[in-house]
Parts: sequence; C-alpha cells; structure tokens
Amino acid sequence: MSGNDCFKILEKIFEPKNKQKIEDIRGYSIKYGNIVEKGEVIDEVLVSYFKAPKSYTTENMCEINSHGGNVIVKKILEICLKNGAELAEPGEFTKRAFLNGRIDLLQAESVIDVINAKSEREAKTGIKQLEGYLSKEIGEIKQEIMDVMVNIEVAIDYPEYDVDDVTNKQISDMLNIVEEKLNKLEKSFDNGKIIKEGIKTAIIGKPNAGKSSLLNAILKEDRAIVTEYEGTTRDTIEEFVTINGIPLKLIDTAGIRNAKDEVEKIGIAKSREIANESDLVIAIFDSTKELTEEDIEILEIIKNKKSIIILNKIDLETKIDEKDKRLKQASDCIIKISALNNIGIEKLYDEITNLFNLNEINLDNEIVITNIRHKNLIEKAIKNVKKTKDTLKNQMPLDIIAIFIKDILEDLGNITGEIVNEDIIDEIFAKFCLGK
Ligand code: GDP
Repeated sequence: MSGNDCFKILEKIFEPKNKQKIEDIRGYSIKYGNIVEKGEVIDEVLVSYFKAPKSYTTENMCEINSHGGNVIVKKILEICLKNGAELAEPGEFTKRAFLNGRIDLLQAESVIDVINAKSEREAKTGIKQLEGYLSKEIGEIKQEIMDVMVNIEVAIDYPEYDVDDVTNKQISDMLNIVEEKLNKLEKSFDNGKIIKEGIKTAIIGKPNAGKSSLLNAILKEDRAIVTEYEGTTRDTIEEFVTINGIPLKLIDTAGIRNAKDEVEKIGIAKSREIANESDLVIAIFDSTKELTEEDIEILEIIKNKKSIIILNKIDLETKIDEKDKRLKQASDCIIKISALNNIGIEKLYDEITNLFNLNEINLDNEIVITNIRHKNLIEKAIKNVKKTKDTLKNQMPLDIIAIFIKDILEDLGNITGEIVNEDIIDEIFAKFCLGK
C-alpha cells in the first residue's frame, strides 16, 4: 500500500507481535505479526515499512508478506480494501513515483523494460536507463541548448546591445553539437532493438539436412535462456534464446522441431516466406550429398539476405566443397559443423557476432535507445535542429530562431516527461502490470 492513509489502514488490520506503535517504527524496517479481522488471525506475516519520502513512491508505504497461495493473498487484499484501501491501477506505484518527482518518465518506462526483459543484455540496458543514464544524456543536450538560449533571450530583450553576431556563431556551433549527439542516440536504436527483440533467425534447408539437430544443439547450449512465443507466421513458434550474450529469436517451424513427427515438411515457398521476415537466415546443407536443385533454390533465397551457410555432417565423408562458387555467390559466410556431435557450433556464434557488429554494442560505455517513443521524439528533435539551422542560414530574426529552438527543447522534454500530456502518461503506465 502507498499513500497518506496506508499506515492508518495497516493499524486496523495488523497486530505487530511487539505491539510497537506506528510512530515508533522506523522506515526501512520489518515487523513480525498477524493480520487479523474481527479478532480472528488471518495469517502470520512480515510487514515492511517505508516512511515518506524514503520509499518507491515517496509516500508512506508498507508491504505485507504473507504466506503464498491464492486464498490468503486474496483474503488480505480484500481486508485492505474493506478498510479503506483502493486497488492500484496498472503501474500506479511507478506512476506515483513519477508524479511525485522521484523518477522521470524515462526511468519509469525503463521499469517496464526491466520487468519484461528477456535477455541479460536487455535487463542491463533497462537498469542503466533506470539509473538515469539516458536522462542524464538528454539533460546534457538540453543544457547545451539552454546555455545559448539565455544569450538569445538577452539579445531579444535588450536589442540595444549588439550581440547578434556572437550569438549566430554560438547558435550554429550549438546546433551542430546537439545534432551530432542526437544522431548518435538515434543510431543506437538498431542495436537497442536487437537487444530487446533478438535477431530474428530462420533455419532453412532440405529435409534431413540437420535443421532440427542444429536447433537442438543451440537450445541445449548451457547458457541458453529460452522463452517461447507464438510465431507471426502460422505453424511457427518463436524461441527467444540468449547464448554468450547473443540474443536470437529463432523461428521454429512445426516441421523442423520434431523430425519424427510427420508434420508436412516445409517446402521452398514456405522457406522463402519465413526467410523474408527474418533478420538472419541460416541455410543448412547435408555435406555428404551433392548439391541438388532444391539446394540451389535455397541458395537463391538467401542471396539478398544476411545469411550463414552451414555445411553439416562434417564427421562423415563430405561431397560439398566450401569453395564451391554457387555457395560463395549466395553468402560470404560459410562454416562447417556437425550438429549431431556439437562440433563447430561456436563458429556460428562468432559469425553472428560479426555479422551484427555485436562486439560494438558495448553496454558499459554506450547509451542505447530501446524504446520507439524515444526514438520518434529524437527523430523529431533532429528534424527541428535541421529546421533551426535553415532558419539561421536564411538570416531570420532571432525571435523566430528562438521559437524553433524551443521546439527542440520541447521534443527533449517530452522524452523525460517534464512537459508531456496526460494521455501519453496514461498510455505509458497502462502497459504495466498490476502492483508495479
Ligand atoms: P532435418 O530434417 O533437417 O531437421 O534434419 P535432422 O536434424 O532431423 O537430421 C536428419 C538426420 O541426420 C538425423 O538422422 C540426424 O541424426 C542426422 N544428422 C544431423 N546432423 C548430423 C551430423 O552432424 N552428423 C551426422 N553423422 N548425422 C547428422
């Protein structure tokens, strides 16, 4: 519970074993006792106390830790409600933290990202954002603008001082710096997207090439964390896997996963469809057999995609030469493995790391944008920087230039939530789950 009355409600329903009065209980402490209703003990609990302003929401807060299970938890919730508490909206705790000024909108949004993180990298980005790295960067850009804005306002308010020339140079320098910083942030979105959503990866190949063996080898990897989703294409599921920090969203077709299952084999047309919606296509070939018509069609599919060719079954006698022109023309990346014996799988990870410049994504030093709302606002700010530059070039009067600069400040303010309208706030917090 959070809010002015939460301790009053708590006093009605909680009896601490040592009978301590709420006034005497310090914040950041935990008390042992019973939840009681009409003299009857409902459960033995621990209650954590947070006294304003030192709490998540900055309000008085308490957390009741009861025994698990649905019945008791529901019962305690019901008792709280009966005694004057109101059920929180999704994200209401975080919303209050934002409205009370403890965190900005960026940090609030990163709470969702941390909760929903599917990979360690993504969680790390979320935590960094929660710590305020992105807010700080935006703040610095704004400061850059504000420093110059002060001079502009002086020049507008006191036209008798002829500061025009100095200011023009200052404005133009400032705009260049701001543009560069914003561009860098905007570019980081692609990396952010990979971290957040994973590299959408399809494995295609003829029946018996070794698709399911490869998939199993990847999924069996020690450090693979797997989450399953329903795929966008019918008959597919998508599995989010992180291996050695590489986030992959594997498109697993019903036919691939279980070879024994006589699900209809995935044909060339279907493979093309799946490949088309992927960021990366892994084409796997049985290297104990010569390339067939069907293989050539598969090579055709991957020609204009980011792809890796895998020559599988190298533990046996091979009949495909990795230097074969037809392979080289289809992809720059050809590796030899044995999926069944788990040989060479790490080469696959190395190639993926290279293909997507994953080494360049250095979360420790770089600020990464992962949220489309932020990206859109940054793009808008960049457009407004460009407009301001044009205005400057066209020698417009300072008060006009000032209006354009204020637009940039507004875009940036919208990101951190200083000047953001209520609808957007509601929309953002609606994405939270209850009790966060
Ligand atoms: P899919 O139809 O493409 O999914 O192929 P599977 O993964 O089911 O493999 C077809 C057959 O090839 C199975 O009997 C596998 O055990 C076998 N196989 C797969 N990879 C290898 C490998 O690297 N070496 C050998 N010797 N056999 C393999």
